[in-house]
Amino acid sequence: MKKVDAIIVGQGISGSLLSAELLKNGKTCLVIDEEKKVTSSKVSAGLYNPIVFKRVVKSWLIDELLPVLKESYQYMEACCNQTFHTNRQIVKVFISDDEKEQWLKKTQDENYNNYLGKEISYQDFDACIKPHHGLAFVNEAGNVDVKLMLEAWSNYLKTKQSYLASQFLYNDLELLPNGVKWKDYEADYVIFCEGYNAIKNPFFSNLPFVPAKGEVLTVKINRLQTAQNVLNKGVFVLPIGQHLFRVGATYVWDKIDEETTPKGAEELTHKLEKLIQTDYSVVLQEAGIRPSTKDRRPILGKHAELPQLAILNGMGTKAVLLAPFFAKQLFEHLFFGKNIHPEASINRI
Ligand SMILES: Cc1cc2nc3c(=O)[nH]c(=O)nc-3n(C[C@H](O)[C@H](O)[C@H](O)COP(=O)(O)OP(=O)(O)OC[C@H]3O[C@@H](n4cnc5c(N)ncnc54)[C@H](O)[C@@H]3O)c2cc1C
Repeated sequence: MKKVDAIIVGQGISGSLLSAELLKNGKTCLVIDEEKKVTSSKVSAGLYNPIVFKRVVKSWLIDELLPVLKESYQYMEACCNQTFHTNRQIVKVFISDDEKEQWLKKTQDENYNNYLGKEISYQDFDACIKPHHGLAFVNEAGNVDVKLMLEAWSNYLKTKQSYLASQFLYNDLELLPNGVKWKDYEADYVIFCEGYNAIKNPFFSNLPFVPAKGEVLTVKINRLQTAQNVLNKGVFVLPIGQHLFRVGATYVWDKIDEETTPKGAEELTHKLEKLIQTDYSVVLQEAGIRPSTKDRRPILGKHAELPQLAILNGMGTKAVLLAPFFAKQLFEHLFFGKNIHPEASINRI
């Protein structure tokens, strides 16, 4: 029998960040993943944005999330000897003078100094962007190359004998008085990081998941010069090198599957054409299912009656930003009894 501190089910963004938190703090774990070809994390654009554009306000908890994000990905990059996190600026494209005015007013608020840049002129920027009502930078944004991170991290876990490619079947789990047994492993906890698959988890069947399908394109745009910045107006356009850009994303709540659709491609290309005035070609279209929740907050904590079972899920549209902070919170809750943010705690449900 092998003994670990925790068994983690799922190696998407959530399971990866949680296992990193455990290893960083000297704990042992076994991460189990069934290695599906398509998962939400594998299609994710990996972008994070500190500003909610609709109301020009800070994203929830952003001042606390960013330092943990930087530290966590830096730790993982050092373990893997690879770089997958990039700091970037987002170029906000204004659709009206009112929107621009609201933005410029907000730049005078010192709480927004780190995030909101002043106006920049088209001429200085990129002639491929269709003229609108002005452009401005958002600072402290960035992206993680999620596919690269997942692969590098599973390779690292393997070097620590902490990874197993397998489907986790609930019937194989045995509950012990102070822990769990799964096949020839014993652990203090099993922590479920199954993404939208959590809707099938019999231990957490009461949780208010509202899975949201999303599609994203990879396009080639030879003349767009922005090699570092992300464009945003209706869609994001994220440079990934060699004149390739990821363009996304759509939101669908009524037909939940992982199939790409002509409608998804049409919606994204239509929005792209409103933003740029140059030729492009679609190279790839992908779809995935986000583990979103009714109140758009993550869900983490222990099972009410079976404290050896825990969950880290509900990252919705923002896993890259939320998972580092909430993986840390769950770790500190399980191993040091610290409180979880009330808006993210499973106890709110
Ligand atoms: C088109 C699209 C674009 C997106 N863009 C962004 C973005 O730019 N920025 C951002 O932050 N977020 C983005 N997201 C959202 C983000 O991808 C999700 O929030 C995130 O991937 C959720 O990660 P997760 O680890 O919780 O779940 P998942 O990615 O679903 O991972 C769960 C893992 O668990 C495994 N698993 C499940 N059940 C079992 C089992 N029983 N046994 C073994 N293994 C199991 C699965 O195989 C999978 O590997 C996007 C999503 C989509 C669909």
